[in-house]
Amino acid sequence: MAIDFTLTSEQKDVQRTARDFAQNTLKPIAEKADRHKDAQECFLASKPAYEEAYKLGFATGFLPSKYGGADIDLATFVIAAEEICTADPGFAATLLVNGLALMPIVWFGSEAQAEKWVLPATQDPKCEYLAGYAVSEPGGTANYDHPGPHPAGVSVTAKLDKANGEYVINGTKYWPTNSGGWDLKGANVNMVTVRVDSSKGGAEGGLAGMIVPRGTPGMTFKAPIESVGHRLDQNNWIEFENCRVPVENAFAVGEGDSIISKAFTWSGPIAGIASVGVARAAYEWTLEWAKNYTGGGSVPIIEHQSVGYMLTEIAMNIEAARYMCWKSAHYLDNCGLEGHGGTGAMAKIFAGELMMKTVWKCMQVVGVNSLDLNNPLEKYMREALVFPLYDAGNMGMQRRKLWGVMADKDFNPRAYTDNEAIPFKRSMQGYGTVPSRG
Ligand SMILES: Cc1cc2nc3c(=O)[nH]c(=O)nc-3n(C[C@H](O)[C@H](O)[C@H](O)COP(=O)(O)OP(=O)(O)OC[C@H]3O[C@@H](n4cnc5c(N)ncnc54)[C@H](O)[C@@H]3O)c2cc1C
Repeated sequence: MAIDFTLTSEQKDVQRTARDFAQNTLKPIAEKADRHKDAQECFLASKPAYEEAYKLGFATGFLPSKYGGADIDLATFVIAAEEICTADPGFAATLLVNGLALMPIVWFGSEAQAEKWVLPATQDPKCEYLAGYAVSEPGGTANYDHPGPHPAGVSVTAKLDKANGEYVINGTKYWPTNSGGWDLKGANVNMVTVRVDSSKGGAEGGLAGMIVPRGTPGMTFKAPIESVGHRLDQNNWIEFENCRVPVENAFAVGEGDSIISKAFTWSGPIAGIASVGVARAAYEWTLEWAKNYTGGGSVPIIEHQSVGYMLTEIAMNIEAARYMCWKSAHYLDNCGLEGHGGTGAMAKIFAGELMMKTVWKCMQVVGVNSLDLNNPLEKYMREALVFPLYDAGNMGMQRRKLWGVMADKDFNPRAYTDNEAIPFKRSMQGYGTVPSRG
């Protein structure tokens, strides 16, 4: 019995807690918050749910126990994330980004840095701690690993001021979640990817991670972006103007590309399952509708073969996508995130794109009433549109990453099935950043 899809009793507990939280606490809050016209108001309205999620361990439970986390593995996190996303995937992204910001400090930072910056995340008596993961930029992010010097790739710079023992950060970040915090004066901490060496490419040692705490002069936040979907997630516009941080706040100096690659590997199956959660909610609502609505005929529409066939396809797609994400999380747990993402990228691309089409199929089953704002399908569609585009867009970053892993001369195409780690190599990066017209 090597292959076993049964949840452990711990996983069942987590699933039950997440389901109860999603349906009874988050859903009523999210339904109202999503309707606010102003992006910051949407985010603020989700705060009572965030505080509850923090108490339940969903905001930091994935951190190692030595920093106050619960050592929740990816497979278990994925099970919780599906439940939370049936209620609101934008809210789930707020939780996820705490991990995207803090896990790189655990992986690449020193012990002293992890103790100083990660431990407080789990010790907030107000239960409102937020961390931002500031990678994306207005000029584009897909080519973060471009081999060329500045201005290709990451354009936010951090120049070393040796005399004062500080880095001086300048430039703009656009889209990062959580970064502005509840009052737009900053999340507790922002993990910012920067260019420390303007003469070197992204995958050639030019990048680093910089820890910028709330209240650091020179870091300001404009009004968050008004976005089509995931409205409970706060997407920020951050300006750095001669923002100074001590050299002790820098980590992964010369390896900032690995921060981005590994973080988006970790989040791959979570982003994938987020799309499954949304599609599942759409499917369950649609199935109920099809069993009750007649469309002016004499029988509920589920009795029509076209509707029945579409519903079977919807259900099949959801099952397939879920198990892809479970498999990817299980593989990454077993292989210590090695390979930086062949399988994380697969789960994210496969599930996100299929679930987006699956929610559209639900709309086709329901018909014109799916457009009625009194029904939930329009929200599910707005949320589903985000999945192929966010969390390292599927075209610019995720497919390139998978391509780089596969192109390596030592790549074993059976590694995923055999649960064999694929060691990460820097040479796997940069694919497709400098296309040739051939
Ligand atoms: C809800 C939400 C939350 C987010 N949270 C965060 C966050 O916390 N932190 C953060 O930093 N960002 C965040 N983002 C931004 C997100 O991570 C983006 O996915 C990321 O910036 C990449 O976007 P992109 O692929 O569109 O990149 P862009 O650089 O804007 O590229 C645009 C398009 O150009 C094409 N392209 C460009 N270069 C190539 C190439 N070399 N090969 C192939 N195609 C290419 C692709 O089609 C790509 O999709 C968030 C976005 C959303 C919507």
